[in-house]
Amino acid sequence: MLGLMQDWPLVCHKILDHAATYHGGREVVSRSIEGPLHRTNYAEVRVRALKLAKRLEMDGVKLGDRVATMAWNTWRHLESWYGILGLGAVYHTLNPRLFPEQIAWIMNDAEDSLLFVDLTFVKLIEAIAPKVPSLRRVIILTDDAHMPETSLPGAVSYETYLAEADDDFAWAEFDERTAAGMCYTSGTTGDPKGVVYSHRSNVLHAMTAVQPDMLNLSSHDRLMPVVPLFHANGWSTAFSCPMAGASMIMPGAGMDGESIYQMLTRERVTITAAVPTVWLMLLQRMEKEGGDLPDLERVVIGGAACPRAITRAFQDVYGVKVMHAWGMTEMSPLGTVCSIKPEYDDLEGDAKLDLLSKQGHPPFTVEMKVTDDENRELPWDGKTFGKLKVRGPAVSASYYKGRGADQFDAEGWFDTGDVAHMDAHGYMQITDRSKDVIKSGGEWISSIEIENLAVGHADVAEAAVIGVAHPKWSERPLLVVVVKEGRTPLKSDILGFLDGKIAKWWMPDDVVFVAEIPHTATGKIQKMSLREQLKDYVLP
Ligand code: ADP
Repeated sequence: MLGLMQDWPLVCHKILDHAATYHGGREVVSRSIEGPLHRTNYAEVRVRALKLAKRLEMDGVKLGDRVATMAWNTWRHLESWYGILGLGAVYHTLNPRLFPEQIAWIMNDAEDSLLFVDLTFVKLIEAIAPKVPSLRRVIILTDDAHMPETSLPGAVSYETYLAEADDDFAWAEFDERTAAGMCYTSGTTGDPKGVVYSHRSNVLHAMTAVQPDMLNLSSHDRLMPVVPLFHANGWSTAFSCPMAGASMIMPGAGMDGESIYQMLTRERVTITAAVPTVWLMLLQRMEKEGGDLPDLERVVIGGAACPRAITRAFQDVYGVKVMHAWGMTEMSPLGTVCSIKPEYDDLEGDAKLDLLSKQGHPPFTVEMKVTDDENRELPWDGKTFGKLKVRGPAVSASYYKGRGADQFDAEGWFDTGDVAHMDAHGYMQITDRSKDVIKSGGEWISSIEIENLAVGHADVAEAAVIGVAHPKWSERPLLVVVVKEGRTPLKSDILGFLDGKIAKWWMPDDVVFVAEIPHTATGKIQKMSLREQLKDYVLP
């Protein structure tokens, strides 16, 4: 017997309908690329997204067509997503920090037909467009007054493009499993792989993300996604904020500590989200110039492990709650958030910091397990680590064009490529990415744990641990450090600081000071380049 309830397709544009109807006046504030602050609301965003969908249809865009965006977080980028997906086309976010050849490869793989691009990236796209034969039109996210001279095909300003259609349009109707969006993982191992989100997976994921033990979003919130929409599905903020009726504060291209501080305070942001490097910049800015964060209640930190020093500074100095999160492009992207369950309510001081340095526990819709190389499940004892595998309705079932098939097994488990352990209460902690693991004398050493401790030293700005070849132990850890401006610590100071905090055999064999540590396009430490950079290094 079937239930007798209505079958209501879970499509993303229904989220915007909801926001416009019940939270219509809620703000979307952006630092525009042209300069001034721009204010709009969900009701207006919806009207313009409908116009855009109609205009795209006039341009011949059809169900399933890929339409690329290369843009910072602004109201125009948000409208573009909804205009594209509301027609049944697929928003395909491009990461401008990738190499131009990689961007061209990705655009050709996806066969993008149109592109929405910010003024910032027009020159970059001019160099790439001739290599992408499928690209027939570029819409520049600005108005006529700011249009640059450009050779791009069919170039038009966004505002003019929009003005050529009215809003007398109904969202297209299609199955909830229809593709809504596309995002490529960074190609650290081989060619990038396309992740394709469905309407259903985006809606389910947003319903998960707003839950109390996840982002805990409500209509009282003003959320600033510093994480760009082009990084891992924008961490779902384009869906979870309108779903909860939370205002969105969009930082545009202002990604430096000062610009972020100004937006956080002037726009009374209550919750914000980004990778640790962004928060290091903000905290360094605040340490130098002073200031406080009176409205900010919580900060979501993910994409890379959050060092204890960041958690401590936010909580103890500025009274802001840290929500350490883990996820992947392939998971839409949220996998876990480290909110505190009743079992851990009594923790204080260092014990609480220990808990908060874990990546946290999964919500309903995410299943997790940790296995050994033979796919045998490992115990949840908070220390035995192995391969982290996940499954759920907002987790990839395969990559675009069937790439990377060996990461998926017959029971639907996706091998994340992360190495982790779980504790008795279901808290997961990442110890490494499998390709960065250091194996010394047959045992694994967690590079992440050492890095996070090292950045707690007052003179250390950033730290990375890599494995270097060793005749006896096969590999030993090497600590690579960028020091804070004007500081000159000795190697022994830094190793002394780690002493007693990690097992003796985890102690790095040496410390190397460098001016800069290489980062990936999403702001993470790029261990592969670092290993390459230090390939001639020999242990003392
Ligand atoms: P990219 O590699 O392009 O940045 P993702 O954002 O999808 O793409 O990266 C996901 C990976 O980032 C995870 O598999 C994991 O290795 C790492 N990661 C994400 N969040 C955390 C976290 N809180 N702690 C440690 N590693 C993390």
